[in-house]
Amino acid sequence: MRSARELGISTVAIYSEADRAAPHTRYADEAVCVGEAASSQSYLNAANILELCKALNVDAIHPGYGFLSENADFARKVHEEGLVFIGPSPESIRLMGDKLASKQAVSRYNIPLVPGTDQEIKDLSEAKIIAGNIGYPVLIKASAGGGGKGMRIARSEKELDDEINTAINEATSAFGNGAVFMEKYIESNKHIEVQVLGDQKGNIIHLFERECSIQRRHQKLIEEAPSISIDVETRNEIAKTAVEVARACHYYGAGTVEFIYADGMFYFLEMNTRLQVEHPVTELITGVDLVKEQIAIAEGKAISLIQENVHIKGHSIEVRVYAEDPDRNFLPDIGHLTTYIRPSGVGVRIDDGYDEGMKVPIYYDPMLAKLITYGETRDEARQRLIRAIDEYQVNGIKTTLPFCKFVVDHPVFRDGSFDTSFIESYLDDYIKSKGQPGDRSVAALMGVVLSEQEGKRAHESHAAPNGSSNWRNRLKEWQQ
Ligand code: ADP
Repeated sequence: MRSARELGISTVAIYSEADRAAPHTRYADEAVCVGEAASSQSYLNAANILELCKALNVDAIHPGYGFLSENADFARKVHEEGLVFIGPSPESIRLMGDKLASKQAVSRYNIPLVPGTDQEIKDLSEAKIIAGNIGYPVLIKASAGGGGKGMRIARSEKELDDEINTAINEATSAFGNGAVFMEKYIESNKHIEVQVLGDQKGNIIHLFERECSIQRRHQKLIEEAPSISIDVETRNEIAKTAVEVARACHYYGAGTVEFIYADGMFYFLEMNTRLQVEHPVTELITGVDLVKEQIAIAEGKAISLIQENVHIKGHSIEVRVYAEDPDRNFLPDIGHLTTYIRPSGVGVRIDDGYDEGMKVPIYYDPMLAKLITYGETRDEARQRLIRAIDEYQVNGIKTTLPFCKFVVDHPVFRDGSFDTSFIESYLDDYIKSKGQPGDRSVAALMGVVLSEQEGKRAHESHAAPNGSSNWRNRLKEWQQ
């Protein structure tokens, strides 16, 4: 809506009864309630939404990045009603929404794929033969899966026995499509994805990569751009491959091509045919407003830039603020936001959907906000993020903010040696670290101890609670 406003386009927001007080309803020029809290009764009721659009004389629909944003039938119906869908063609959505179909489509173009099958696996005996060929561990995936759901690892034939039918049943009940396939499970991998933009005239460009390896339950929690893990040569190669994937499905609109990266090799995972949650980090390092580009493309205009004019400047990191309790394995939390005060200042961006006093309901994905920082260097973006997390005040509900601070301050995050198993490996350390006196109280105590001994230097220690290694070394000595 901000991008639309800058373009002089007025907006209509839709909301469910649970979101009546949400800030987006006030930001829009008009807002209409589309039904009850349960998304099946509101945000997923396509027929009702289309009726409202016609009644309100709406020209185009931006589907955001949830609910109907990757629903090919919805996109088709929007077209049939004579409205513009701000997104790719229904055909691209359908093709890329199905992991098997998309693998088959790109395999003709020499795109590197994770070793595995590109055909549905129907039963255990077939699964055993394939797993034997691929080699354990294997990952069973639902073709229609998304959001990290519908994936199961089997490390042996015995585990495959247990997992395959469960996977098929789960895929059927969760996605209405029981098709599963198998890939080699790649240990110690990084998730690297490339932002692409295509227009309806056939131009396709990339806006470099994002690294999204900090995940829990195969779902992203922290993202950054550019990736610290690849060199210039790999960057160019992965970006070129992403453009080829987009070309393979005659793509237009904003899209993301996801890869898994391990041992210097990258493999195509899937394509997301919408704006991604983590798109702000790309906007900050390239200076491109992706939503404005989406709107222009939907109007039939050419992308406003050529590849040679897209450059990376600086570094950006995003943390997702989920209403979840990291101490309880990221169990969603519900309740009222009794305090909600956003951070601000140079290089800080917040995209959020809540205000103080609002209730966080059980009905939707528990993401409250995204906190994004920008810096000239990765370290500046990181320090700024820690500062902004300290400023962010959220009470009444548990959030992922304190855990995100732990991650971005962790030596393994700092030096870039992390992979997608980071959270699994270090969650216990985080939980244990909370049993210790917090940095701030220790810092204050340090100040007292040292000031007795060392006068002026004690003051410097106290003034830098989050940083200097000098201070940390002294803290270690003090603890011993
Ligand atoms: P979804 O559509 O549910 O997001 P993806 O295929 O994009 O599923 O995978 C999500 C995450 O799962 C990846 O970022 C990666 O961490 C992990 N993953 C997917 N495929 C593999 C694989 N073959 N080996 C290891 N990890 C994988």
